[in-house]
Amino acid sequence: MDDLDPRTLIAIGGFMALVLGVVLGFMRRYYPPSIHGLGHWALAPAAMLGGTIFFAAPGPWPLELGRWFGNALLLLGFMLFHFGCRRFFGHATQGRPILAAYGLVLLALAWFAYIDPSYRARVVVITVAIAVLHIVTLLFLLRRSNKNFPIRMVQFTLALHLAILLVRLQTALTMRNVGDLMDASLVQTVYIGAYVVVVLLLLIGAVLMATDRVRTELEHVATHDGLTGTLNRGAILAQCEDEHERSVRYGQPFSLMMIDLDHFKAVNDSFGHQHGDKVLAHFADRTRAALRRADRFGRYGGEEFLVLLPNTATDAALPVAQRIHTALATGHALDCKVSIGVTHWRGPDDPLDAMLGRADAALYQAKAQGRNQTCIA
Ligand code: GH3
Ligand code: MG
Ligand code: MG
Repeated sequence: MDDLDPRTLIAIGGFMALVLGVVLGFMRRYYPPSIHGLGHWALAPAAMLGGTIFFAAPGPWPLELGRWFGNALLLLGFMLFHFGCRRFFGHATQGRPILAAYGLVLLALAWFAYIDPSYRARVVVITVAIAVLHIVTLLFLLRRSNKNFPIRMVQFTLALHLAILLVRLQTALTMRNVGDLMDASLVQTVYIGAYVVVVLLLLIGAVLMATDRVRTELEHVATHDGLTGTLNRGAILAQCEDEHERSVRYGQPFSLMMIDLDHFKAVNDSFGHQHGDKVLAHFADRTRAALRRADRFGRYGGEEFLVLLPNTATDAALPVAQRIHTALATGHALDCKVSIGVTHWRGPDDPLDAMLGRADAALYQAKAQGRNQTCIA
C-alpha cells in the first residue's frame, strides 16, 4: 500500500466524483422541480475536484497558493453538499453564518501560510473546519423525521469521516513531524483513501435520496386524490381489504363509514364547479381533522367518501361521525352538510363487499330520512 501514489488515488476518486456530479446535474434537469438541492449537490464534486487538482498538480502556481486554493475549494465542496441537504428538505440554505465562518477559515489558512507559516496549524484549521461542517450537516439530517436508507447512509458516512478527521486532528497535534499530504506514507494513503470513499458515498447518497424522493412522490400521486388529498378509490379499498384480512385473522372488529355530500349538485349549479371543488377540499380538511390517527380516509367517487375505522365497533364510530357533522357546521362559507352510513364487521363470514353494500344502504337511509344525519346498518 505504501507505493500507492496519493495523486493516483485522488485522480481516480476525483474523476468518479465528477461523473456523479454530472449525473446529479442531469437529475436536476430532468427530475421533477419539486426535488430541491440537486444543483448544490451537483456543484459539490466540481469544487472538490478543483481543490484536489490544486493540491495534486505541481504548478504552474506557487506551492502555498495551490494548497490554499485546494483547501478553499475542498471546504467549498463540503459546504455545497451541506446546502444541498438543506435545500433537499425545503429549508433555506442560511448560508450567511457558514460563509462568514468560511471566510475566517480562509484567512486563518492564509495566515498560517504566509504570516506565521505552520503546516501543522493549517492541518488543524482545515480538519476542524470540515469536522464542524460535518457535525452541522449531521445534526440537520438527524433532526429530519425521514429515516430511510439513503439518509442513514449519508449520516453514517458523515459520522465515519468525522471519526477519521478526529484521528487526523489527534495525529496532527501530537506528531513531531506532520508529513506532507502528498507523501506516499501509509497514514496519508489511508487518510486520502478514506476521503475519496467518503466523497463518493456522500454523492451516491445524494443520488439515492433524490431517487427515493421521486419514488415517494410518484407513490403519493398514484394513491391520493389530487383535489382533496385523501386516498383515492383504489388505495382506500386496498386499505379496507388489508384491515378485513387482519380482522379475519385476529377477530378484531372494524367499521366503515360512507359519506356523501348533501345536495352537492345544487352547490355546483348555484355557485359553479370551482366553488364546488373548494367545498370538497374544505370538507376533506375538516373531516380529516375530525378523524383519529389510525383512521383512513378516501374518495370513493365524485362527492362520496369512505372512511376506514380500524379496531372500532359502531358505538365508537358514531361519535366520530358526530364530530364530522359538527366540524362542518361552524358557519364557514364553505361548510356543507353530509349524510353518513356506518357499518361494522360482523365476523369471519362478513365479506368486504357486503360491508360496503350495507354502508351504502345506511347512507341512502340517511338521505331518505332527510339528510344531514348518520344511519347505522
Ligand atoms: P344528494 O344529497 O342526494 O347526494 O344530492 P347530490 O346533488 O349531492 O347528488 P348527485 O349525485 O345528484 O350529485 C353529485 C354531484 O357531485 C354531481 C357532480 O357534478 C358533482 N361532483 C362530483 N365530483 C365533483 C368534483 O370533483 N367537483 C365538483 N365541483 N363537483 C363534483
Ligand atoms: Mg350527494
Ligand atoms: Mg353521490
